[in-house]
This record gives sequence, C-alpha cells and structure tokens, in this order.
Amino acid sequence: MPGGWRGLVLAALIVYLIANVVLSFFNEGDEPVISYTEFSKQVAAGNVEKIYSKGDAIQGELKGKQPVPGGKGDYTKFVTQRPAFADDQLWANLTQHQVTVTASPVVEQRSFLANLLLSLAPMLLLVVLWVFIARRMSAGMGGGMGGLGRKTPPKPVELAGTERTTFEDVAGIDEVEGELNDVVDFLKNPEQYRRMGARMPRGVLLAGPPGTGKTLLARAVAGEAGVPFFSASASEFIEMIVGVGASRVRELFSEARKVAPAIIFIDEIDTIGRARGAGAGMGGHDEREQTLNQILTEMDGFSGSEGVIVLAATNRADVLDPALTRPGRFDRTVVVSPPDRAGRAAILRIHTRDIPLAPDVDLDQVARTTPGMTGAELANLANEAALLAVKRGRAQVGPADLSDALEKVQLGAERSLVMPEDERRRTAYHESGHALLGMLRPGADPVRKITIVPRGRALGVTLSAPDADRYAYTEDYLRGRIIGALGGMAAEQVVYEVITTGSESDLEQVTGLARGMAGRWGMSERVGRLTAIPSDGQSPYGLSAAPATLDAVDHEMRRIVDDCYEEACRVLREHRPQLDALAEALLANETLDEKAAYAAAGITRLEK
Ligand code: ADP
Ligand code: MG
Ligand code: ZN
Repeated sequence: MPGGWRGLVLAALIVYLIANVVLSFFNEGDEPVISYTEFSKQVAAGNVEKIYSKGDAIQGELKGKQPVPGGKGDYTKFVTQRPAFADDQLWANLTQHQVTVTASPVVEQRSFLANLLLSLAPMLLLVVLWVFIARRMSAGMGGGMGGLGRKTPPKPVELAGTERTTFEDVAGIDEVEGELNDVVDFLKNPEQYRRMGARMPRGVLLAGPPGTGKTLLARAVAGEAGVPFFSASASEFIEMIVGVGASRVRELFSEARKVAPAIIFIDEIDTIGRARGAGAGMGGHDEREQTLNQILTEMDGFSGSEGVIVLAATNRADVLDPALTRPGRFDRTVVVSPPDRAGRAAILRIHTRDIPLAPDVDLDQVARTTPGMTGAELANLANEAALLAVKRGRAQVGPADLSDALEKVQLGAERSLVMPEDERRRTAYHESGHALLGMLRPGADPVRKITIVPRGRALGVTLSAPDADRYAYTEDYLRGRIIGALGGMAAEQVVYEVITTGSESDLEQVTGLARGMAGRWGMSERVGRLTAIPSDGQSPYGLSAAPATLDAVDHEMRRIVDDCYEEACRVLREHRPQLDALAEALLANETLDEKAAYAAAGITRLEK
C-alpha cells in the first residue's frame, strides 16, 4: 500500500502545481480597476512609478501604497481606462512627474516559452500517460519479448545441453520427421553443406490442425540438433503500440544469430501472415504488415550459412500471404496431419511411458476406437485415465479407466442435472432418432454409444465412429450424416410434433455439411463443379462468386437439407416400433453401448 499512497500524493502535487501555473496566467488581471480621476490624482501627486498603455487602457504601478478608493485594502498595481473625451495633458503630466511610460499591451503577453509550454502541456500529459500504460503492458506480459519498458532481450527457451525434446517424444508422423531430418542434419553439420555450396531452406512451415504436434516437432528438431530454441507466438508481436512488433522481430533474429546455429519458432504465424487485404486482424493492419515485412526482411537477410532456421506453425495455411511461402522464405511446407491408427497407438505408448498400465490394457484397441483424435487429445486421454485411476484408488490404470476417460474426452464431462420426466423422455427420443437413422443406413458410421445423461452442453449424446480411418467422403455418406444429424429433430417431430431448441448444434453441423456439398465439393448439378465458397466462409475480396452463384448455393443447401429431413421423418415413421423400443431402453438404462443399442433396436450390425 505505501506505493499507492506515494503515487496518490505525487499525483495531487502535480495537479496542484499545474493548477497554480495555469491560474497564474489568468491572475494578471487581478489589479484593482481605479477611476481615471483617482489615476490623475496620483499622477499629480507624483506617486506613479510606471505605466503600460495600449490604446486608452492603462496599467501601472504606484511608488507608494494607496488605499483603494471605495474599497478595502491598499494597492500599488492598478488598471484604468482613459475616457476618449479627456483632454488633460496626460503625456505632459507624465513626463513632468518622471513616470516611465511603455507602450506595451496592457495585459502582459505570455512569454514565448510560456506559450509553448502551455500549448504542449496536453500533449506532454498524453505522452506521459502513454509511456506509463506501455510500461504496465509490457510488464504484464511477463517478461515478454520486449518493447517499451523492456528489460531483457529475447532468450532461447531451451538451451543446448539441457534435457531436450527429441524425435523420441514424437510419434505417428514419421513422414514429417523425415522431412525435418534434413534440417536437423544441416544444423548439426553446417560445414558440410557449406562446402558443397548447398543452401538450406530458410524457413519451414508446419501446417496442420491444432494438437497435431507442430510445436512439439519444432522443439524436437532443436533438441535433435542440439541447438538453442527461440520461441515466439506471432500474436505476441502485435501490440497496441505500432512499430513495436517489427523491433521485437529484429531483436529476436539478432539474438538468434549471436548463438547460431539456432532455431526460431514462430507459432500461429497466420495471425500476422494473413494475405494482405483479408479482413483486418487484431492490432490493425499496419502493425501486422510491418511485423510481417520485418520477418520477411530478416529472412531475406540470411546469407543462408548463418545457421538460423525459422520454423513456423499455422493451422490456417490456406489464408497465408503468398509472400511468405515464396522461395527463399518459408520454401518448405510440411503438412502435419492427425495420426492414423498405428500412429495413435504409438502416441499412446509415448504418453503412457510413465503411467503404470494393467497387463490387460490393449493400447492398439484404444487406438482403434479413437479415429480422428489428435496427439494432444490422446495425451489428454492418457492423463484423464491416470487421474481416474488415482481417484478410484487403483495401483494401475486398467481398461475401464481408459474407456471411461475416453467417454469423458469424447462426450464431455457428466453434468448432474435433474431433468423433468417429460424432457428426459423427449431427449431419449431425440437421441434414438439420431441413432436409429445411423443404424439403418448402410455405409454410415456405426453407433458406438448413446446416452441421455447430460454432458457438457448437450442433454444427450449419440456417438458414432467409423471402423477405420476415413480420408475422403462420398456424397452418399455425407447425405447419411445429414440425415443422422437431423434425426433428433425428426424424431421429436414425428413423436411429439414439436420442435425444441435442443437441435441447435445438430443444425449447425447440418448447415456446415450442406454448405460444403453445394458450395465446395461440387455435389450439386445446379451450382456445378466449382468452389463457390472459400473454406473459411469469407472471401478476402468481398463476394467469392457472382451473387447468382451464391444464390444457387443457398438454394441447393436448402434443397439438400429439406430432402434429408423428409427422408429422416419418413424412415422414422416407417420404423416407429424400433424407435419406441430404443427410446424405452434408453430411459431404462440411461446409457447404451454399441451392442446394447443395436440389440434394443433389433438390428444386426452389418459387418463390413
Ligand atoms: P500443435 O502445436 O500442433 O497445436 P502441440 O505440439 O502443442 O500441438 O501438441 C500438444 C501436445 O500434444 C504435445 O505437447 C504432446 O504432448 C501431444 N502430442 C501432439 N502430437 C503428438 C505426437 N505426434 N506425438 C506425441 N505427442 C503428441
Ligand atoms: Mg502449438
Ligand atoms: Zn441432437
């Protein structure tokens, strides 16, 4: 608190001083206004020392104090006005009594300096405030990368020699490791490359969805090569203060060059590397552009043998400025994808290295049931299973812990909501609708689990997952997905003839699929084989296609969804007994696994 008090006192003092200075400028008109008669009297008495005059206004000073006529107190300074009709011999009188007469403005002009100060004062105040805020901000960044009030230059996050991340810690993306091996090799033996006159890529762009291990890979490359690792997130460069980003970049590169060979890692490069002209990001256009230009300049500045390699990560490679991926800059793009089944098993093995596993745990089986999950999600799964085992007081993580953890990770944590009976029933029908349509449709992903226990934001969940990883989808499969997603709403419609808010996220999914089918994947005759809609839904240059084309996309989306909804309702009406049976089973058991669900609906699962 003492600091706070001192600040308060200081602020009060400053305000007081400023007020004083400002007031003193206005205070000059403080002298009493005396009558011209009184003035003449004083002149005649020889009591006037000097006067200033401008026009008929007179300001002056007496030699000796005089009582203010008709007022209180005494005065020596005074102001008066000479009437226009006065025909006294003022000049003669004044010279006779040796009064110094100066023909200067009556109200003394402020000095040039005072004027300057006064006009600059607001600006000075602003600057002080600005510096103050800037200091606070860079302090708040926890010793970020610099800027105003920065104290330390950027330091490598990981130094050569300490315990490092290596390729041992990365699994499931072997082809990517292969590509990065060149970089490692170059960093290890730059001499060899130099002798051959070979130029190394200056930058490698790691592109892939979140959680696939891009950051991990960058660290691993540095670790394998045993070189210092500088890491920065592109969003850190963009601050409210324009110009700071570029200087931070300059500093980062100069520090890295000092300890070269080294690796600079720039995460989320799309925040500053978006194609120019695409919607303004945070921090404004100029700042992004300046920072980006500085990065490009620094990369161009490499002679290629300095041994600083820039790795950058993005999950939006499609929006990057082409200037970034030009040869001589990020001239290699490495796509990091979610792992396949073998990869998932390997990643699970890495993340269960320090977890005691029961002998009957089959990680390959877990890998089979987790298609589409990324490395980060698998790491999380392993950790959740360990947490569960601790909570249950076990010495080892067993298969049950893993499958419960998987449920939690995939479906969200259970929520203890007491649901009114009629809502519970409606939810059971909703989920049964999703599930039944999935079970009945050949080629659809099998239903793995249905539950009406509220989880996360949902009142119930139906989980379906393919037997094997899928990489491309047929139109028929996508229609099936839309029909399944509409199944919840259709069931409520068929059984209760009502529509509830519970289908919001279903509809979002449906909209996304339908938009893709009509606008991106050429699955509509009317729109044709073209991508009318960019992948992120917004085009940098206004409309992405002629309005008529977009109209057609819109129309086709509606047609697809309407068709699917009709089909969903029709199938559910046709299979109403199965729908009822499934809903009843759900109401009785709350959660059904794959076998129980197919059994309750009386459907034998078609093995592929
Ligand atoms: P990204 O940067 O692509 O979003 P990260 O590198 O931050 O993903 O991954 C987060 C965490 O997930 C890592 O620290 C690691 O524990 C785990 N992980 C992700 N991918 C892999 C992988 N291929 N092998 C091993 N662990 C992984
Ligand atoms: Mg990352
Ligand atoms: Zn639903």
